Amino acid sequence: MRDALPQPGHYEEGARIAVLTTQPLPGPLDYRAPEGGCWDGAFVEVPLGPRRVLGVVWGPGEGGFDAARLRPVNRVLDAAPMRAEMREFILKAADYTLTPLPAMLRLATRAPGLGGAPTMRRVLRRGDGAPDRMTDARTRVMEALDEWGGAAVTLKELSDAAGVTSSVVKGLVKAGAILEEDSPRDTPYPWLDPDLPSVELTPDQEAGATMLREAVGSGRYGTTMLRGVTGSGKTEVYMEAVAECLRQGRQALVLLPEIALTSEFLTRVQDRFGARPAEWHSGVTMTERRRCWRMVGEGGASLVVGARSALFLPYRDLGLIVVDEEHDTSYKQEDGVLYNARDMAVLRASLCSAQVVLASATPSLETWVNAEAGKYRRLDLASRFGTAVMPELHALDMRTEDLPGSHWISPTLADAVRARMEKGEQALLFLNRRGYAPVTLCRACGQQIGCDHCDARMVEHRFLKRLICHQCGESKPIPEACPSCGAEGRLAPVGPGVERLAEEAAEAFPGARISLLSSDLFGSSRALKAEIEGIAAGQADIIIGTQIVAKGHNFPLLTLVGVIDADLGLQGSDLRAAERTFQLMRQVAGRAGRAEKPGQALLQTFQPEHAVIRAILSGDEEGFWRAEADERRAAGMPPFGRMAGIVLSSTEVGEVFDFASELARRDAPLRRIGAQVFGPAPAPIARIRGRHRVRLLVKADKGTPFQAALADWISQLKPPTNLRLAVDIDPQSF
Ligand code: ADP
Ligand code: ZN
Repeated sequence: MRDALPQPGHYEEGARIAVLTTQPLPGPLDYRAPEGGCWDGAFVEVPLGPRRVLGVVWGPGEGGFDAARLRPVNRVLDAAPMRAEMREFILKAADYTLTPLPAMLRLATRAPGLGGAPTMRRVLRRGDGAPDRMTDARTRVMEALDEWGGAAVTLKELSDAAGVTSSVVKGLVKAGAILEEDSPRDTPYPWLDPDLPSVELTPDQEAGATMLREAVGSGRYGTTMLRGVTGSGKTEVYMEAVAECLRQGRQALVLLPEIALTSEFLTRVQDRFGARPAEWHSGVTMTERRRCWRMVGEGGASLVVGARSALFLPYRDLGLIVVDEEHDTSYKQEDGVLYNARDMAVLRASLCSAQVVLASATPSLETWVNAEAGKYRRLDLASRFGTAVMPELHALDMRTEDLPGSHWISPTLADAVRARMEKGEQALLFLNRRGYAPVTLCRACGQQIGCDHCDARMVEHRFLKRLICHQCGESKPIPEACPSCGAEGRLAPVGPGVERLAEEAAEAFPGARISLLSSDLFGSSRALKAEIEGIAAGQADIIIGTQIVAKGHNFPLLTLVGVIDADLGLQGSDLRAAERTFQLMRQVAGRAGRAEKPGQALLQTFQPEHAVIRAILSGDEEGFWRAEADERRAAGMPPFGRMAGIVLSSTEVGEVFDFASELARRDAPLRRIGAQVFGPAPAPIARIRGRHRVRLLVKADKGTPFQAALADWISQLKPPTNLRLAVDIDPQSF
């Protein structure tokens, strides 16, 4: 039935439609409304050239048009309309990142939740029957079913979750322990109970929790920096903010930087609120994602735990966004639409009167500066929970260590590891380099093996028996002969990767149980999770890992951290190198001594007097941030000035340089706001997948219309078809 009077935003004649396409369109297009009209936010199918594409009704037509001459909307989809607040978020996010609206819209709607009514599917639930015999596999299935929190699962999801074949599940169905039924719609997520008993917070934590509860209760926008060393209880504290949000009947979102951290976190949610929340990241099945997308929109999911793209889900009433490990660089999407999820979280929250919590042991300089300036509330958890203290940090001066060539564990570090092992404790050897060796060199001709498509070296992965390019993923078997000169058997690894370090450790500590944690060595997040749980349970003496170990895992027996190369991140010309190294080293060191056992961290370095190494050792964070902030302020660098990178790429190196130079010459629109352009220079990685990359950097003062000037500037020149241009607002490296 139609309303007697058209609703505001209900269009009978013409409407503007934002179209989802990869074509560069200037903005929404006018279409003739279908029979029965269309309304703001409705998902529609429209013709575009010869194709039919998805679109969202974006407002009334421009007016003055002849509706009869417009192409008509084909049909309105049977999906909940996009809310006004979501449309505003997409618009503002597109404006901020200088992304064309269609591309930003695709980010928010590539979710599989569109396309008519949910399909019927066979789902499983717990039944009353009992099989005559319970095997281990069967027990695992029943446990997995319970872990699902009463929600319906499919046969495949359940057998995957339990790690059994589908026949095990079918056996239980036959016995009546599990019921199979047709589900016509998505099941809401189980209810999360905010009032289940939580741990008893320390006075410090309680004060923080109270502050966050009040903030969430205010129903207004606000951002809080929640800072505290690893193990100080940040998670416990922000869980109280989540609880308050649930009590208010609003939705909460917790963003995590790494999928590998999700399962540990889901268990904590289950412990605190009695059931598991919705989960959103690339490792989640399509069926589950569809359910999540719809339930978030209908309000049937009160808490979402996910990766950065969870920000673009169609929340019904979002009241809280937690960005855990907010300093983590993986919040910056570096492919396609370039955006920083931390900044977009703040934008989104400001549009829907939600609170943001930025949690970290080592906040980003941006966040720290905003807190100092009073834009963000500041919450510090002073100490670790219980008796655990931050480990003692010491430098190991590698200039005085007696170490044979191609060895990286110094005698002092080796002794410290042995001492821990004798006490039944664990040691972590940290090296942020995947693979066996970063360089493979031919000893006959002196050439290093490089990637054919990128300006990068091929990295030997001995366990996988391949050379892999870490830029484009290209891999090939390790050759017998040098690809340059053909000499046989003369290829040699140079420098250490974690695999080589594991080899050295096996030699140095005979009989030690060594666990190697590197993202490329685990086929699935399940396998990685199992390894991590094994370590936590004490099934390893020595852990060797890349930066995946620096993130949030809790290893109660770990008391010694040895950093193999503390200088690694300080090389290169990146202005953020100091900040990154400081954060990474403090995070890694923080892995030691989380429980009642005190910890120690030893940093192998060739430059113990370096200011950053000294700051890491002293733990004087405030001092470090002040010094960093002063330097950036003096140079007019972010967060005190504005910065954008323009990356141009093409298969033709000449073409891309010519275009970039021409663009740099026509800088009048930039000069109008006092902005400067630097370059062109080769991008930090000058060639990826056969495309040459050149970068221009633009720097401006704060408070100028930066994005508008950039847009004017770029639009002066139309790039040749073969050339791609990407704008990177607030680049990570500069
Ligand atoms: P962070 O997020 O700062 O690393 P967590 O919240 O994960 O810290 O706390 C570290 C560990 O200490 C967790 O196992 C947590 O459950 C425990 N913990 C923290 N505060 C308390 C408390 N008040 N009572 C009991 N356990 C606590
Ligand atoms: Zn490559």
